[in-house]
Amino acid sequence: MNLHEAPLAAQAQSLSPVDQALVDGVLAGQRRALAKAITLIESTRSDHQQRAQQVLNALLPSTGRAIRVGISGVPGAGKSTFIEALGVWLIEQGKKLAVLAVDPSSSVSGGSILGDKTRMEQLCQREEAFIRPTPSSGSLGGVAEKSREAMLLCEAAGFDVIIIETVGVGQSETTVAGMVDIFCLLQLPNAGDDLQAIKKGIVEIADLVVINKADIDRNATAVTRAQWRNALHMLRPVSPNWSPLVMTASALHKEGIPEFWEAIEKYRSALTPTGEFAAKRQHQALSWMWQLIDFGLRQHFRHHPRVQANLPALTQSVEQGHTTPAAAAYALLDYLKH
Ligand code: GDP
Repeated sequence: MNLHEAPLAAQAQSLSPVDQALVDGVLAGQRRALAKAITLIESTRSDHQQRAQQVLNALLPSTGRAIRVGISGVPGAGKSTFIEALGVWLIEQGKKLAVLAVDPSSSVSGGSILGDKTRMEQLCQREEAFIRPTPSSGSLGGVAEKSREAMLLCEAAGFDVIIIETVGVGQSETTVAGMVDIFCLLQLPNAGDDLQAIKKGIVEIADLVVINKADIDRNATAVTRAQWRNALHMLRPVSPNWSPLVMTASALHKEGIPEFWEAIEKYRSALTPTGEFAAKRQHQALSWMWQLIDFGLRQHFRHHPRVQANLPALTQSVEQGHTTPAAAAYALLDYLKH
């Protein structure tokens, strides 16, 4: 069946027995089934992709119940220490959590800052936690897309909390902020850091800022906290019902963890009655759809035979100033009509 032509309902009905077993396994919270389903969505094979979309469609009604938390920070900020402390604490509170990573380094260097298996050793051993290292290839868009889908699978498997972790590099923070309910920045207690974040436009997307490693220098932590509060004060809040909080923590000594979670719950209870919490998810889902449409159109364009045949000459003509960029673009887009 051609996925692109099939109505959604038909896609959901046409699951093979193998895929139905996978769906049932995920719904039953079986880790093996969840890991297999994530491997399926990460596969680049087109038949796997088609099956993955069918599996996701079947699971979609069972998604959406978790709280989705993004945690970002530069390498060394203490992300894995913090997530581990938070995870162990959440498990003590009776919760189940999944940790997924969006790792921009993997597409650039082929290696991975986040993907090494020695991180979060305690959490790895817990039945109530599911930790998935990032796929080690693909563009950031591709990796992020897989993380979004993996997040839905984890929700269907019954995890209450999904943490999406990313390194504070380039585009990845904006990408992660676009897929979570609340986006948290982990900062170090030194004055240089916040200026960098302001420059990169990160301040605007932070719902919560945590100054970690407060144990190292309490004074510097207080100064950094005040600087962040000032920086955030100057911005118009995204919602009249939420002003980003600046907190301090020491992940190593497990300080500030319950307070962090209290802030997350406060955020959810401030924005749920107003409808903003649900509206944010709707907006994110639509924006994801449009990103995929844009990507698909671009692919279609690049693979079109007449575009391929004429692109080199037109590119050269624009480079040499014989054709305007606009004329070349319209001529190339026109080929799609025939
Ligand atoms: P990541 O790269 O952001 O994941 O950072 P890690 O969690 O790997 O932490 C980097 C280093 O900082 C490790 O040696 C941690 O033990 C240490 N670290 C993390 N949190 C704290 C903290 O709150 N206080 C202190 N003193 N060290 C910390």
